[in-house]
Amino acid sequence: MATPLSIAIVGAGMGGLASAAALRRVGVDVSVYEQASQFARLGAGIQIGCNAMQVLRGVGLEARLRSQSFYPRSWNNRDWKTGEVKFDMIFGESAERKFGAPYLLAHRGDLHAALASAVPDEHLKLSHKLVGLDETGDGVRLSFANGVTAVADAVIGADGIHSVVRDILFATSPVHFTGRIAYRTTYPAALLRGEKIDDCTKWWGEDRHIVIYYVKPDRSEIYLVTSQPEPEFRIESWSAKGDVRELRKAFAGFDRQVEQVLAACPDVHKWAIVDRNALERWGEGKVTLLGDACHPMTPYMAQGAAMAIEDAAVLSRCLDGVERDGVANAFRRFEATRKQRTARIQQTSRANTWLSGKTDTDWVYGYDAWTVPLAA
Ligand SMILES: Cc1cc2nc3c(=O)[nH]c(=O)nc-3n(C[C@H](O)[C@H](O)[C@H](O)COP(=O)(O)OP(=O)(O)OC[C@H]3O[C@@H](n4cnc5c(N)ncnc54)[C@H](O)[C@@H]3O)c2cc1C
Repeated sequence: MATPLSIAIVGAGMGGLASAAALRRVGVDVSVYEQASQFARLGAGIQIGCNAMQVLRGVGLEARLRSQSFYPRSWNNRDWKTGEVKFDMIFGESAERKFGAPYLLAHRGDLHAALASAVPDEHLKLSHKLVGLDETGDGVRLSFANGVTAVADAVIGADGIHSVVRDILFATSPVHFTGRIAYRTTYPAALLRGEKIDDCTKWWGEDRHIVIYYVKPDRSEIYLVTSQPEPEFRIESWSAKGDVRELRKAFAGFDRQVEQVLAACPDVHKWAIVDRNALERWGEGKVTLLGDACHPMTPYMAQGAAMAIEDAAVLSRCLDGVERDGVANAFRRFEATRKQRTARIQQTSRANTWLSGKTDTDWVYGYDAWTVPLAA
């Protein structure tokens, strides 16, 4: 029997792990290289759109995610002051029937751990920070900061918005600072002392917003994330701390629910919101990018990870049954299949008007990465 195709995946984030899980299903021998020495459980929530859940179901994670995540009746959109409903995007069973998969609200750490559970430990190499790539006659050589080198038939750069793989391939423009910052945290809902809040609401202010939702099936933990102007702040890190008093001040006068959630909030993280313009090309030869490495976006549609996860399913379909000499073409086919959709989602996210009024959502949530036609 011929040896299976070997693919090195750089980055064990949402897209890298989803790709490893999807590629294993089609018999590819994957190795995932991650710079971190361990996975941290970040205090963040994540919306898992029906479109992402289609993919996650296909890699066997639906039951686990349903049991650990919150199943909201809707994603409501309300005026910051009057509470008037601008658009209530109904999820729950009716959306599940329509789009073919549930909409879930999760702790980011739970989604990441679920994805990691789909990749056996021996395929995952922590403390491997990629520093170099060279295409050789029969594959690609990867060099890591720890001195290790490895050779694979092909490489997937799933190394996020600051992708080293992208920087090796192309001279790309620096990240685009939006002039806005986000505060975010998760905390035990018990701190609300019995005050009731909606399942999931985006409170729209004049130049700022806050999104609040539960991330556990028993409503025991809540998540909040904001966006507001602060052009001077340029630290873009998952671990930088913010000042909760500043946050409360910034949202003073918002609906009582918002004020209560912020009053109970023990501490917060703060970071600058960035994105990039769509890339012209996603790869070269036997190397491709995927996820935030090639189409990072502002978080306003809650679709960044969903796009990385969709990428994983489409890429696995493009590589299904492909021999070594067909990999470069399979990568270009992947790019051609995915580019238009991800660019449209990047643009729509940047506008920050998603669900602010009656919105056609079918094209986003109704996409099934397992069946969508592949480019010729
Ligand atoms: C505030 C906020 C809220 C969001 N909310 C949502 C949401 O509700 N729903 C949603 O779908 N998306 C959401 N997103 C977007 C989502 O987080 C990203 O789109 C997603 O994480 C992208 O996945 P990725 O695998 O491409 O990159 P990442 O998840 O960033 O993973 C990249 C991985 O590569 C590793 N790495 C980097 N460089 C190297 C290197 N040189 N060598 C080895 N490893 C390396 C990193 O350590 C990391 O583990 C949100 C984003 C933000 C900022």
